[in-house]
Amino acid sequence: MEGAAEVLTEFFYPRRCPVCDRVLPFRSGNICPGCFSKLSFTRSPVCRKCGKEVLGEAEEYCRDCSRRRKSFEYGFALLNYDETARHSMARIKYQGRREYMDFYGEAIAARYGKQIARMEAGALIPVPVHRKRKRERGFNQAEALAEAISENLPFPVPVRADILIRNKSTLPQKDLTAAERLKNLSRAFEADGSRISLRMKNVILVDDIYTTGSTAEACTRALLRAGVEKVYLLNVCIGHGR
Ligand SMILES: [Zn+2]
Ligand SMILES: [Zn+2]
Repeated sequence: MEGAAEVLTEFFYPRRCPVCDRVLPFRSGNICPGCFSKLSFTRSPVCRKCGKEVLGEAEEYCRDCSRRRKSFEYGFALLNYDETARHSMARIKYQGRREYMDFYGEAIAARYGKQIARMEAGALIPVPVHRKRKRERGFNQAEALAEAISENLPFPVPVRADILIRNKSTLPQKDLTAAERLKNLSRAFEADGSRISLRMKNVILVDDIYTTGSTAEACTRALLRAGVEKVYLLNVCIGHGR
């Protein structure tokens, strides 16, 4: 149920469509109907580890997951990381469109609610950004996503942004090979074991984009080192990792 505060907020700060960035008519939802069909939702068959689309039912895992060991259990992603998704994700980060995550979080909760329930997770843990970057942007996009997912699930899974810490600014990942990425990242993430309770045996790592999976792998390893038993993933976009 929407309260007066939400209605007023929307009136004074109109929502923008996560695809075309146009201001949406008052109280019309959080995406244009026409833009919804431009999003490329992942379709089965998908990789049983990372959730990336695979070519046929015979392929259990994507190329990347069948070649490299992943420490997380498995995960799901909402969208294929195409041009439309790339622009939308970039505007969240670089133009402060935090509200887009309301749409993506709601869509993930609606589509994967049953699968999320089966994970029996005690927390949604956003992939952290470095403090400096968070200060520049005003928020962490993964945390905004985790909050939107949590709000839309029919059962409680709290967001815990205080467990995983990003130590230092790492080199820009996109210019590195997969092996270099993992090395670059392995020291960057740390988890605070003293904040992990018994109810957090299983957790869900949340992020905006999954490409090679090296960030997810580094975060998972940090969480396992700190005493978590199982790590699952939820991502908005999933792209082609080599
Ligand atoms: Zn639109
Ligand atoms: Zn995979």
